[in-house]
Amino acid sequence: MSLISNAPSELLDELLGRTRNQAALTTAKRPQGYVSRETIAGGDDKARYKGFRDIREHWGAELVQRGWVDAIRGLDLNPKEHSRYGPAIAFINHGRWMALCPDPDCAGAEVVTSSDRVFMCLSCGNIENKGRLYPVKFPTELKEISRQLSKRPRIYRNWHPHETVEDLARENEENL
Ligand SMILES: [Zn+2]
Repeated sequence: MSLISNAPSELLDELLGRTRNQAALTTAKRPQGYVSRETIAGGDDKARYKGFRDIREHWGAELVQRGWVDAIRGLDLNPKEHSRYGPAIAFINHGRWMALCPDPDCAGAEVVTSSDRVFMCLSCGNIENKGRLYPVKFPTELKEISRQLSKRPRIYRNWHPHETVEDLARENEENL
């Protein structure tokens, strides 16, 4: 990946535009303050909590700090449908929609959002995918899964794709 100092000037101008909210990155707030009491939080909730418009603007500011130009460019493109790895698979951890980086050589994980089903890894910048976004696969029953989990205390709001809505409802019945 090229360093930011090698980027063409138009791109740098664009990056500066993206960083106008960069102060928000260092704002000291409770790290999980975006996690909702009522529902399952996503990347857009996290982005807005930190002062960004949406998940791509938040990732953009983080990538600018790292100087990962290929990944910054990738944020403006649609996900590559036939990347070697992927899609990233959404799961729920402590009340947040998350996905692991599809690159088996990377241990990254990010908060993702069902309203923009893309994945940018802040650990590797999707380098294996040439900085392009991976698609994210969400379950078709995501609303019902969220509804069942939202009845629980936050630390028990966990879901993995092998679990059905019925599994969650039964666990609620047994434990709440
Ligand atoms: Zn990664």
